Amino acid sequence: MLPTVTAAALVVTATGATVADSTTAMRLDFTEGEARAATLDAVAQRATVGDLASRRQAASAQRSALQGQAEAKERASRAAARKAAAEAAAKAKAEREGKRWVKAIRTGRQTSNFGPRWGKTHDGLDIGAPAGTPLYAMSRGTVVRSFVDSSFGNKIEIQYWDGSVSWYAHMSARLVQAGDTVMPGDVVGKVGNTGYSFGNHLHVEIHPAPRVDNPQNPIPWLRSRGIQIG
Ligand SMILES: [Zn+2]
Repeated sequence: MLPTVTAAALVVTATGATVADSTTAMRLDFTEGEARAATLDAVAQRATVGDLASRRQAASAQRSALQGQAEAKERASRAAARKAAAEAAAKAKAEREGKRWVKAIRTGRQTSNFGPRWGKTHDGLDIGAPAGTPLYAMSRGTVVRSFVDSSFGNKIEIQYWDGSVSWYAHMSARLVQAGDTVMPGDVVGKVGNTGYSFGNHLHVEIHPAPRVDNPQNPIPWLRSRGIQIG
């Protein structure tokens, strides 16, 4: 390097101002060129930086959008899970509620037991109560029959969820029809004195299945379900 620099200095000294001007002009040109190059570099760099920034911004926006979508999906999924859990809980509760056993009549006094009576068999329990006293479905079930019988008067037969069937007889009113679904405690009729009956009372029988006349002693049936009659 050193010999070249020395040679250039000698040339400038020998040729004078013109050359020096020319050198200056060249230097100016060079400087302008350099400046332009620098400016272009800067522009390019800025452009690159700008591109990068806008790409980053776009990527960030995309990430935000994806994150937003993921969060919305997660929210929806959590909401669906909550809804399903609530529905399952409600269903389980309804199931439990439906399987409760409740009294057929809340006030009344047993006047006849199941078994032999007056030289015949009495096929159910008699509960004496004022006319119009409400009668309740003992659990969830379906009304099998609701009709007027010459002996039983106003009569309804309900099959419960466990398959067993109750008969309520001598009612003053029947409030359900065949095919109706009943829940524990639903009012299905009212105490009366219809059919072959002497005084207002509920005659209740328990049978193992619909349309099977095979009366069972209601007392152990009720006891095993944790309820009493009257
Ligand atoms: Zn009876």
